[in-house]
Amino acid sequence: MVQLSPITKRLKKSVELLIGERYYYLTIAYNNDSRQIKNRERERMKKFIDLSQDIINHMPVYPGDGDVKLYQDKYLDKDGYTSFYLEIGMHAGTHIDTPMHLIDQKTFINEIPLHKFAGKGCFLDVRNEKVIEYKQEYENLVCKDEIVILYTNHSRYYGKEEYYTDHPVISAELADFLIEKKIKMLGIDMPSPDRYPFKIHKKMFENNILIMENLTNLSELLETVSFDVIAFPLKIKAEASMVRAVASIDV
Ligand SMILES: [Zn+2]
Repeated sequence: MVQLSPITKRLKKSVELLIGERYYYLTIAYNNDSRQIKNRERERMKKFIDLSQDIINHMPVYPGDGDVKLYQDKYLDKDGYTSFYLEIGMHAGTHIDTPMHLIDQKTFINEIPLHKFAGKGCFLDVRNEKVIEYKQEYENLVCKDEIVILYTNHSRYYGKEEYYTDHPVISAELADFLIEKKIKMLGIDMPSPDRYPFKIHKKMFENNILIMENLTNLSELLETVSFDVIAFPLKIKAEASMVRAVASIDV
């Protein structure tokens, strides 16, 4: 073995450190590059469709519900910062109802596991049906744990009186079918799947199926073969919550 002088030893150590660091930096650069490329690819492959209504001052609400108040109460020039204030019922705009809304159930929406609010979407075109009926073809279309989206196109009346007074309803047979299929959530582009005494609501809730109401932009899903739905509620101790409902499509 060659004996190295103390100076040569120090030199060798410096070279090792230098090479080591260079290698380290090269590795980081490579990892960052490949991650950026992967992220870009992922972004290119995903398309998000917003299925939510805007939350604005005096927005439409279910007959009998309180007015929505959204206003600016702090101003940058006067207060040094900008801040808005919101007063809203849980059933205004795009929102999710949980069983507690209409049956004797004590779980608040903030206690429901997150996986209940995201999952594979199933799109059913039910336009021009005053009473939305079960159809044999749904047997192969609807699967367990899916978020079933019914496209009635009733959202075109959003903001008009008939939106709340003249919406389609779901037949008991269709509700029973969705329950039997054990779907995760029912999403609709109208304010309710039924009217007083809300038998369909109760039926779904008794079977632990959430209901997402007042969806919009569903026509954008017409040509879609496969999509996911993401609709997380606020972490709010209430029986329902406004949500940002989104369809995620692989393109
Ligand atoms: Zn509701």
